Amino acid sequence: MENILARFAQVAARPLDYAKQWKQETGGRVIGIFPMHFPGELAYAAGALPMVVQEDDEPVTIGQSQVFSFYCGYNRSLIDQALRGEFDVLDAILFGDHCVQLLGTADVIRAHLPTKPILFNQLCSILDADWAMEETRGTFRQLWTELETLTGTKIEEASVHTSIRLFNCNRSLIRRLYDLRRTGEIELSARNMQHIVKSSMVMDKAQHTALLEQLLSGLVHAAPKARTVRVFLSGHMCHAPKPALLDLFEDCGCTVVDDDLYTGFRFIFADIDETGSPVDALASWYLTRSQKVPCPTRAVKGLDWEQYLLDAVAQSRAQGLIILMAKFCEPHMFFYPEIKEAFEKHGIPHLLVETEHEGVALESLKTRVDAFVEVVGRRAAAAPVARIGATV
Ligand code: SF4
Repeated sequence: MENILARFAQVAARPLDYAKQWKQETGGRVIGIFPMHFPGELAYAAGALPMVVQEDDEPVTIGQSQVFSFYCGYNRSLIDQALRGEFDVLDAILFGDHCVQLLGTADVIRAHLPTKPILFNQLCSILDADWAMEETRGTFRQLWTELETLTGTKIEEASVHTSIRLFNCNRSLIRRLYDLRRTGEIELSARNMQHIVKSSMVMDKAQHTALLEQLLSGLVHAAPKARTVRVFLSGHMCHAPKPALLDLFEDCGCTVVDDDLYTGFRFIFADIDETGSPVDALASWYLTRSQKVPCPTRAVKGLDWEQYLLDAVAQSRAQGLIILMAKFCEPHMFFYPEIKEAFEKHGIPHLLVETEHEGVALESLKTRVDAFVEVVGRRAAAAPVARIGATV
């Protein structure tokens, strides 16, 4: 089990190294996919390796002159990686357009890598509009054709069905880990959970799924170490929070029982229909996902992230919420005041932690997390029956 977790950690730390090795071994194409809405199933069905492009840990240097300093760390890191030649391993990049900053990044990368094939696809942002289904079908049909042209391979419907089944299987195995952790049957640190999801965004799904099956069959059911409070982690769009930050929460006495992080539950919660037309299935998957775990970059009438969070916190029996917000992430910033108000109204402690590519001052943050843990502990002690198992 330790070896499997170590392998996931290795891929999560050096995703482009994994891609290079995969390419050497298979001779296949690697397609970098920008987060957060394009599925990798079509590219996989074309025989390529779809990998979600990740932030790296290097300081932003030569890319800094190409980007506003008020862009989020993920965007600045992407531009820097592109200028450093890190994306040479990618045979194409699939851009989405879910935030204004990402559009700017796409332009810079296009300008600096003029020979890199770019697949630019727009998915509609109003998910319950009358025209959304037909529009989304059209986007996936276009992507299907573009991938066939790029790879020189005809993508058969049967291959897409096989790909969808494999990806669903991978997601369901990770959800099983989430279930076991939520119910307290296993001890799985937030760092390890992130490594599992992040490596799933990168690795060949068949390889990753085989490792997950081994991991699940060898899991020893053991109650989590006694810590003081159960917490839910929320936010952090597009990229992974630094593992040291997750360790800090646990070192301060938090047990992370659930999350809606992109490099977490948000990536694996929804499956794609395995029957019928794959284009219809992909479109339905995209249009209905936000109804289960709302995304701040998408709009659905009457759907609020704060209500989802209140319900999710109650269902996971978390006693407090930690919001991880990437600095300058506008979509997330727009939602925060409503989340804050809702949690204050319901008397559920929450802590906002702003993250940066350059890192977070862990010592001063530790003081805030210690205070948060104390507040959560006191509230839980004052009203244990009301909070635990409460439905909102
Ligand atoms: S983290 Fe936020 S600001 Fe950055 S690309 Fe994602 S949605 Fe946009």
